[in-house]
Amino acid sequence: MAPRFNRNALQLRLLRWGHEFGELLYPIAKKTLPYRPKMWWIPRLPIWAHRRRTPHTRPWTTPVPSPAEALRTGPGIELLPERQQAAFDEAPLHDFIRLHPEMRGQNSPTGHMWISLLSTSPRVQGAARKRAKSNREPGATAAAKPVTPEELTRAMKLEAARLGLSGVGVTAYDIKWNYAEYHGMGVGETIVVGIIEQNFDSTQMSPSLRAEKAALSAYSGLEDRMRLLAEWIRAQGYDARPEGFVGESMVIPYAVAAGLGQLGLNGQLLTPHAGSRCRIHVMSTNAPFVHDQPVDYGLEGVCNECQICVRRCPAGAIPANRKESRGVVKAKLNTKRCLPVMGKTAGCSVCMKVCPVQRFGLPAVLEEFDRSGRILGKDTDDLEGFDWPLDGKHYGPGDRPRLPLEVFETPGFDFDPNRKEPIGWVKPEGKPDETDGGRVEALGY
Ligand code: SF4
Ligand code: SF4
Repeated sequence: MAPRFNRNALQLRLLRWGHEFGELLYPIAKKTLPYRPKMWWIPRLPIWAHRRRTPHTRPWTTPVPSPAEALRTGPGIELLPERQQAAFDEAPLHDFIRLHPEMRGQNSPTGHMWISLLSTSPRVQGAARKRAKSNREPGATAAAKPVTPEELTRAMKLEAARLGLSGVGVTAYDIKWNYAEYHGMGVGETIVVGIIEQNFDSTQMSPSLRAEKAALSAYSGLEDRMRLLAEWIRAQGYDARPEGFVGESMVIPYAVAAGLGQLGLNGQLLTPHAGSRCRIHVMSTNAPFVHDQPVDYGLEGVCNECQICVRRCPAGAIPANRKESRGVVKAKLNTKRCLPVMGKTAGCSVCMKVCPVQRFGLPAVLEEFDRSGRILGKDTDDLEGFDWPLDGKHYGPGDRPRLPLEVFETPGFDFDPNRKEPIGWVKPEGKPDETDGGRVEALGY
């Protein structure tokens, strides 16, 4: 029998008190802690102290069955290349924080995440520092060995598994997924995508500080492993430069292109083994790895039948239908509704918690669909129920919290989801290319 994660009445009260206590101290934290506090120098807690939130460092090996005909759509995501190119020519993608510098400001809703950041930052910042140091010399540290691309790729994937990455894939660099601020910083035409699986038990407690810390811990574990994998590639005779926690590219399209999953209605990568309960990083390299291909796992078909996250999102931020946006056919999340709720409810992640692929894995979901034509766990409290920190109540299927207007309104936080270019951005003359990323003068970039 599957474990249950429902809290009892006392635990629900503690969830609410914990939230209220954090909010009580927030004005002090806001004045004393900078955004992304520089706390790498604080001694890390011993591993046993945060065992409950550590990521799962085992490679995914369970075979995934083929989906039923009714669930098939197409490999990866539906792309409209001409529209993609036109959108890129009009305005390339930008680094989210540079596009929205208000996210760093004192009034950003993410400031409410200060308690989780307090205990996870030493690890996250430490991993980022080590990667940045290692990246200062991204070049080969040995002569290339005479092996075929297939042998080299197999050896790299074995090394990734040995390091504890859950999944790894290879695809081509695409400037359209690379934020304009980082054009020309890659070291090759190949992208290696690495994934780590976030702690299972902690994620089922979303929204909560414990779940939020599990997500941040997964990032630091992933960043460490991608750095070590880059050092291994350099030792094989090639350049490698991993990106970090903040990121220089849209990682989900790369992961889809590398056959590691498909895009869910919740806007996240759904992997067959853990749904969106995972974190993704990419690295650029000039190693001649064999590229993987996008796969139709039946995940878009599962989303069409499921729609649980659409119904359960407390902010009503997930649309039920996909539309074309910048040449990609997807359900475009309403960030203006999601961001404040996410910031004020310990990362929220209800859309991840209630996803049957996250909870049971795709093989079990496909098996149930073959047997009964139903989505595993749909309409059950076990899957769809969640505890809400703002009022300490449990919400089962058919019921969700009523959010007061002030949850969506953050005084002093002026977020414009339609902004296309950072303030102060100087667009390069002519078409943007890989060697001229433009400059954000106002930010001193
Ligand atoms: S909850 Fe359902 S609709 Fe939402 S991402 Fe998961 S499978 Fe797709
Ligand atoms: S994080 Fe919460 S508010 Fe945002 S889309 Fe997911 S469920 Fe909705």
